[in-house]
Amino acid sequence: MKTKGILIVVSGFSGAGKGTLMKKLVEDYEGYSLSISATTRSPRPGEENGREYFFLTKEEFEKRIADNALIEHAQYCGNYYGTPRDYVEEQMTLGHDVILEIEIQGALAIKKQYPDAVLLFVAPPSAAELRRRLMGRGTETAEVIDKRLRRAAEEAQGIEEYDYLLINDDLETCVKELHAIIDAAHHAPVRNEEFIEKIRQELGGN
Ligand code: ADP
Ligand code: 5GP
Repeated sequence: MKTKGILIVVSGFSGAGKGTLMKKLVEDYEGYSLSISATTRSPRPGEENGREYFFLTKEEFEKRIADNALIEHAQYCGNYYGTPRDYVEEQMTLGHDVILEIEIQGALAIKKQYPDAVLLFVAPPSAAELRRRLMGRGTETAEVIDKRLRRAAEEAQGIEEYDYLLINDDLETCVKELHAIIDAAHHAPVRNEEFIEKIRQELGGN
């Protein structure tokens, strides 16, 4: 029996490996729908409009907010980021598991609107490794990297708000753990109401 689609929120410090992890999750497993956010930040080399993000001007983004076209939005290091409503609602209706890769303010806003959402926080094994990954990615200036590391120190204060913590040390292991957590969430009674109703009727209890 099919269970309801789950809304999964993945957050973590910039450079923790969230993007890499998501890419591998959809390569290795079927049935995941990744939400594509809107942002006012500039595309990095290799990023395409409509694939990694919908890249918008500040005016375009503010219009989306006014039109209630985003289910949440936040500012991060001087730019707007937000989740388009249409895709998430459409995929949830189809019963798909939808993954939002968003920062903490957005994650908490989602938990309020969708109390059954599963919130995961991805951390690197150490701060030194985080800096190495951010520098190794080579997509931000030293100044932006420092800004993101300062933001990471703030975000670390909110880890307890999440349901699960994933340490992204070995990528393969972390992807397996991520999938296992989502798989386990499908077994919660709240997501199996149809079956519960069926077995109760079959048993004929009162
Ligand atoms: P985020 O999306 O969280 O900002 P990225 O997915 O862009 O992070 O990863 C940051 C950098 O770290 C990239 O260069 C990526 O190749 C590398 N990386 C990601 N996961 C791992 C891992 N498990 N081990 C080593 N390097 C990793
Ligand atoms: P980046 O610029 O590295 O792609 O993303 C910066 C931060 O913005 C990351 O923490 C990422 O998770 C977050 N982010 C991406 N999309 C959204 C979104 O739609 N909403 C919110 N609140 N945060 C987002």
